[in-house]
Amino acid sequence: MASIAIDGPAGAGKSTIAKMVAKKLNYIYVDTGAMYRAIAYYLLNHNINIENDTALKAACDQIHIQICYENDAQQVILNQENVTPFLRTEETGNMASKSSAKAPVRAALLDLQRNMAKNYNVVMDGRDIGTNVLPNAEVKIYLTASSNERAKRRYKELIEKGEQADLNKIEADIIERDTRDMNREIAPLKQAEDAIFIDSSDMSIDEVVNTILSVVKDNL
Ligand code: C5P
Repeated sequence: MASIAIDGPAGAGKSTIAKMVAKKLNYIYVDTGAMYRAIAYYLLNHNINIENDTALKAACDQIHIQICYENDAQQVILNQENVTPFLRTEETGNMASKSSAKAPVRAALLDLQRNMAKNYNVVMDGRDIGTNVLPNAEVKIYLTASSNERAKRRYKELIEKGEQADLNKIEADIIERDTRDMNREIAPLKQAEDAIFIDSSDMSIDEVVNTILSVVKDNL
């Protein structure tokens, strides 16, 4: 089985790009952020204080996550319930950003992610795929863009959905999440030594996808 790891900060376009690359190659797209969000969703719904190690460990022991696909779209099943529609809120994202730094939360997902790569050809996106989850991935990409550009993309997305948005606040949130992801003790976000660096600030989606496909062609 072959694996393509795409890591990078929030809002760099990883999921859009990873989905397109997976489709082109006929690989499965694995969104690990959604798994962290599903755990965050559980922790929020059960009012778990994530700073209480005993409570967090007990909660993680109750969490069972499975992944399946409907029309090529990843679905996250949390304790038998498909929670996919509830995962993309700001509240869940904020909790995921904090709870993903905790050891029991990361431990709850590692085997699931590794097993998916054992059983399928995958394009897996996240923060620690190339460095920690799949250190032997055939292709590793570190995809980033300036925080200002990432904030503008997110702002545009929200406005198009008819939601209210404040560009400065979005950029501040993005910087806060990056800082947390890059500075945590366990599996921090960083570029793997053998990853290809792509800054998509001034690139179109197609340009990024084609760059990755050409790296894949050279390495697989
Ligand atoms: O990518 P997404 O925003 O959905 O991820 C939600 C949160 O999960 C991130 O803020 C990050 O802290 C965490 N995450 C992680 N490791 C991954 C994927 C996501 O820590 N492999």
